[in-house]
Amino acid sequence: MTAGLRVLPLGGLGEIGKNLTVVEYEDRIVVVDVGLRFPTADMVGIDLVLPDFAYLRERADDIEAIVVTHGHEDHLGALPWVLRELGEHSVPAVYGGALTMAMARSKLDEHRLTATPLERLEAGHTVQLGPFELELVHMTHSIPDSVAVALTCELGTVVVTGDYKFDQTPVDGKPADVSRLAQLGARDVLLLCGDSTNADRPGFSPSESVVGPRLEEVFSRCLGRIVVTSFASNIHRVQQVVDAAASLGRKVSLVGRSMRKNVNIGRQFGHIDVPEGLLIPPREIEDLPDHKLVVISTGSQGEPLSALRRMAHRDHPAVELRDGDTVVFSATPIPGNERAVNETIDRLYHIGCDVVTTADAPVHASGHGYVEELKLMLNLLRPRYVLPIHGDHKRIRLHSQLGESVGMRPEHIFRGENGLPLEIDGAGARFAAREQSGMIYVDGVDIGDVADVALRDRRMLSADGIFVVVATVSEQDGRSVAPPEVIFRGVPAQEAPDGELVDEIRATVEASLRRAAGEEIREIDLLQEILHDDLAGFVYERLRRRPMVLPVVVEV
Ligand SMILES: [Zn+2]
Ligand SMILES: [Zn+2]
Repeated sequence: MTAGLRVLPLGGLGEIGKNLTVVEYEDRIVVVDVGLRFPTADMVGIDLVLPDFAYLRERADDIEAIVVTHGHEDHLGALPWVLRELGEHSVPAVYGGALTMAMARSKLDEHRLTATPLERLEAGHTVQLGPFELELVHMTHSIPDSVAVALTCELGTVVVTGDYKFDQTPVDGKPADVSRLAQLGARDVLLLCGDSTNADRPGFSPSESVVGPRLEEVFSRCLGRIVVTSFASNIHRVQQVVDAAASLGRKVSLVGRSMRKNVNIGRQFGHIDVPEGLLIPPREIEDLPDHKLVVISTGSQGEPLSALRRMAHRDHPAVELRDGDTVVFSATPIPGNERAVNETIDRLYHIGCDVVTTADAPVHASGHGYVEELKLMLNLLRPRYVLPIHGDHKRIRLHSQLGESVGMRPEHIFRGENGLPLEIDGAGARFAAREQSGMIYVDGVDIGDVADVALRDRRMLSADGIFVVVATVSEQDGRSVAPPEVIFRGVPAQEAPDGELVDEIRATVEASLRRAAGEEIREIDLLQEILHDDLAGFVYERLRRRPMVLPVVVEV
């Protein structure tokens, strides 16, 4: 049994995403956040990246609870996988705010995981979890219901900030609970694990509520239709778009599944207020005059099958963009998504749209505090030790320097890494022996090989050969009109497809095309993307190899 407190980050340090921090006392564990991250371009064929939680699997019996700070994917997204891998019953409960738990519920339902209780905990209330008392502290961020987590044990309090900014004029009028943070600081904060995302930006972050008036300015100059794209979870941003549209006499239509879902959840919990009669369903968009419409759409990150990407490919069933329309990017690309976003923007220009991004007008505000806000957090909590989290190495280092700048002793500031536990007891704090950490790749719904094995395979595409699949579809309705042709080259002889496998590949292609036709996906590039993903998954399942899969769709 380890004496004292142990804090082990399994994700979020030295990277952007997949935040997961393990807090242990007397061998009992509370996990704060279980996030995922999205693959970078070199992770060929990977859908999602999870933290390696082998450590939790070994310690499954010691877990008291998982606490989730807010509903973003990089904090909540790995929950279904963690519960599935650890066994739903090994996690007694998951805690978080009401909206966060509603989002968790909808995620777990999709994965048919219903056994683990999701407990709403209001900020300011406490619950006992083994040797810890858990309290959530209300914070401001780019999604409502964001909290910092305070875990108090005999040794003192650990605060994990979650993502935060100190927005003095948040859209919902509920600023961060600064007085509670100060009270905790006056007691005894042993350790602060703080968000480092904007540790490189001087000053204070602009308030979310400055975005609304800027959007209205931009809107007022538009003569055609307006499409605004943002994160579906940024409910307050959606509210501001709705307000700006309403004040200029434009109707609003929500496009994209996650946009409609999040706005619905947001309305249920009173985080968004839409005037009666303002919303129109997507199928009525074409009936409205151009100057009477604002579309709020998913796709701000250039995601392949998102509504905006389909509009940019002139392949959206409800919105056909044209010359004179304006598309506003009310978001900045997450590192790694720049290429997809730029490609989408260029296609929009090709169609004749005007494009407004944060480079042209302040139509976005970050949800993460800047340098002065990180210092404010340090000064409010006055922690004995600091372990900056949620940032690449550069930002972790900058955050550490901020600790020194507000007068903390350098030896009390720990620049951590994923897998490196910080142990604290009466004698002090120090890093202990490294634990297993890393990445797990998810391919479709299957958890793939750990670490670089899968990637190494993929980089050796040449070794696994190539499949070319030619599908012929009808121009009218996108349905398959001839048996798909399957050609393969360079696939190792012993694994080369026999007649039976070729038939199965054909069946997979037919199934994908049927599904795409059902979703009214027509654009050739998108069809090919869908075929690629489905076939790559199927071939891997059958051959345990990853040949390059090259679908070609021909319209007749
Ligand atoms: Zn966040
Ligand atoms: Zn985050």
